[in-house]
Amino acid sequence: MPITELSSEELESFELMIPQEDFWLNDAFKELQSAYQQNKFPHGLLINAVKGFGQLKLAKAIGASLLCRVNQECHSDLKENNQTGAIEKVATDSQLNFSVACGNCKSCLLLQANTHPDFYLAERLLEKGKLKQNISINQMRELSQKLVQTSQLNGWRVAIINSIDDMNISSFNAILKTLEEPGQDTLIMLISHGMGKVPATIKSRCQVLNLNADKNRTLDWLINKNSDQINDDEISNAMKVCYGAPYASLEFIVQGYQSEYKKLFSDLDALLANQLSANELLVQHKEHMLSLIGWIANYFHQVSQSISLESASLEKAQRYGNVPQKTVMNLYEQIINLNRAQSSGSNLQLTLQLEAILIHWFELGRKIVHYSK
Ligand SMILES: [Zn+2]
Repeated sequence: MPITELSSEELESFELMIPQEDFWLNDAFKELQSAYQQNKFPHGLLINAVKGFGQLKLAKAIGASLLCRVNQECHSDLKENNQTGAIEKVATDSQLNFSVACGNCKSCLLLQANTHPDFYLAERLLEKGKLKQNISINQMRELSQKLVQTSQLNGWRVAIINSIDDMNISSFNAILKTLEEPGQDTLIMLISHGMGKVPATIKSRCQVLNLNADKNRTLDWLINKNSDQINDDEISNAMKVCYGAPYASLEFIVQGYQSEYKKLFSDLDALLANQLSANELLVQHKEHMLSLIGWIANYFHQVSQSISLESASLEKAQRYGNVPQKTVMNLYEQIINLNRAQSSGSNLQLTLQLEAILIHWFELGRKIVHYSK
């Protein structure tokens, strides 16, 4: 079972296809189909977007299509046709080579059972119930070794690394050579949540696929998913909070995070004004600990923006006017790092680190009041 060796993913059913209404993923899939038809299909594909765009879902659907026996049978026809010189037929067949996975062939069934011998998913492993902080160098070595072996079902070999954020320099180095010489009919897909974290050596060996979702179409998609429970303003706000990521916005709405999010922002303002302590804030929001870090990051990001904008409202100008932007950016960086480490550390550690950052914000407010008097 290749999946369990490399990844900690629970053995849930494997989605072979992208839901028809998830337009941004289908658009990306079509882009790859046309690359395939033009013989421009990559061996290293970097799928980039902020969290909540469904990168893994797309990568799995691409992998399933390549591995699907129905598509691969066309592939071998194509090779024979090349020898006999039947050029017209080649063009027709090549269009069939990369269609949506059939769902019924041996390969599709193996994928759905998470037992396909030519499919590898590398993710952070579980250790004593906690996710490890990184994808290890050993996982990457194991992956590289598997990809140099011949395919067990005589077709493509597909690997997904989920995600680049969880890799360190050693694990990057362990996969470099494989990315450079991936072997025939091999696809390595790397999922990324921001190009800033991708080393140039990796970037230069991959084709980059940036996922985008049109704002109006996402709005319609969210309205369809939520029927009549929510107004357009709330949907727009969810999209803003989640940087336009459709799945993340949907979760934000469905979970009813709207009011909690607003309350957090006003509490962070109250913290700066020294009307609330860091500990009180954390106690009040402890039920949303998992989302909290990302939301606080959004808060610092917005504060930083309103400091640099001349058009910031008078209210905001008064509130953040004396706050040094450099300090805000520094706190933002600290929160982002904490976000990265959050699933590997204990809850107590996390709370303490978060509290330290919030105390800094409180102290900053105290100094500002002191100097402006
Ligand atoms: Zn199939």
